[in-house]
Amino acid sequence: MKKIIVFATLGCASLWVHAQAYPNKPVTIVVPFAAGGPTDRSARDLAEALRKPLGGVVSILVDNAAGAGGSVGASKVAKAAPDGYTLLMHHISMATMPSLFRVLPFKVESDFEYLGMVSDVPMTLIGRPTLPAKNFKELQTWIGQNHGKINLGNAGVGSASHLCGLLFQNAVQVDMTTVPYRGTAPAMTDLIGGQIDLMCDQTTNTSSQIEAKKVVGYAVTTAKPLTTAALRDLPTLQAAGLKGFEVSVWQGLYAPKGTPPEILTKLNTALRAALKDPEFIKKQEGLGAVVYTDNRLDPVEHKKFVIAEIAKWSPIIKAAGVYAD
Ligand code: ASP
Repeated sequence: MKKIIVFATLGCASLWVHAQAYPNKPVTIVVPFAAGGPTDRSARDLAEALRKPLGGVVSILVDNAAGAGGSVGASKVAKAAPDGYTLLMHHISMATMPSLFRVLPFKVESDFEYLGMVSDVPMTLIGRPTLPAKNFKELQTWIGQNHGKINLGNAGVGSASHLCGLLFQNAVQVDMTTVPYRGTAPAMTDLIGGQIDLMCDQTTNTSSQIEAKKVVGYAVTTAKPLTTAALRDLPTLQAAGLKGFEVSVWQGLYAPKGTPPEILTKLNTALRAALKDPEFIKKQEGLGAVVYTDNRLDPVEHKKFVIAEIAKWSPIIKAAGVYAD
């Protein structure tokens, strides 16, 4: 009995020492989509901004664990050692996956520690550069004339681009053939090359391509028009006649369940500092994202928000009758 108590005490002491020294080796942020896409871009900018507040000595790496609409990467982090060295950057999928997947190898509510939310990224509806439609009105006509022939790219069932594409198909009452990729970076390459017709994606991936005229921007998915240079001329889908259409991609940071509280506190403090980093804010805002400053930086509020979003999206996804098996 005595021995057990001694071991238990030693165990706690070693965890405490670990937390004190944290971080003393590279920290990895898992991105559940391909490199070069919007989630990856935000995570890489965040990794840079986190380095200084985490002591400025260790590297913050990004690991692209793409697949199955973002569930592969989330699952990897849910199963990782809860030591603060493996984190997850994920988005609105944390709230849609529980309804979209009949079987999910982790529980969003109980297999993660919530570290705080990062930013909100509007989406845009974009098309291949060779599409004859030059604006949303013309696109509606073109869609009407091409039933059964339209390819819509996305980052896999469960991704934000999938959700947005699904809502769009429902709104225009046209079924399109969806083409899944490991992220919207490779989908963007195919859209520019004309292999697919349309895509819904975050402004952090689409702004520069719209500006360079490599793709056609048709509309934004927010309730209000956007003000960044590349996007300010695009109508909202609501103003273009799709009543109630609104989707925006919030992003947050997570750690595996059981990460020591001292490490969670260090990570949350570092995240709060990173989100005030003028360089990080400038990069994100330049691409249309809004960096959070509100109470969702608080882990408790972050978790509450995700749980509310699960409840919000569940009936919408169920009504659409789509599942990722
Ligand atoms: N934009 C993607 C999505 O649809 C993810 C990515 O490639 O970052 O969820």
